[in-house]
Amino acid sequence: TIGMVVIDKDGNVAGGTSTNGASHKVPGRVGDSPMIGAGAYVDNDVGGAAGTGDGDVMMRFLPSYQAVEYMRMGMDPTTACQTAMSRIIQYYPEFSGALVAAHVSGIHGAACKGFGTFHYSVRNPGMSNVTVEAVTCV
Ligand code: ASP
Repeated sequence: TIGMVVIDKDGNVAGGTSTNGASHKVPGRVGDSPMIGAGAYVDNDVGGAAGTGDGDVMMRFLPSYQAVEYMRMGMDPTTACQTAMSRIIQYYPEFSGALVAAHVSGIHGAACKGFGTFHYSVRNPGMSNVTVEAVTCV
């Protein structure tokens, strides 16, 4: 899955996902990626989040929505992603996936489970190029 959170110069937040779905998926499967709150979620007052990973598990927890709501409560994006992921891990300790989040202030973060290191890209108007951030998964 490719997940994206974008904040424009007026503070409008957009999110999106593109995915090939799960390996060996049954015909007609709808995974987490196109489901608002699961694959991605945004709110202009807060920021946005997007997820990748085992969608059949992740979609039960609306992790993108949860990360945005945690940021609304005051958590930084990394902590919001970690906390949203921990709710999944509590019930599905073998699952693997990742969440990225960006706050409207420009702060961003991510958390992941089950695949070593997760990379995500960041670009803002003050940067001349894209940076690649690395997050160590739990
Ligand atoms: N989340 C996607 C799905 O389960 C797969 C992926 O992120 O690679 O459809």
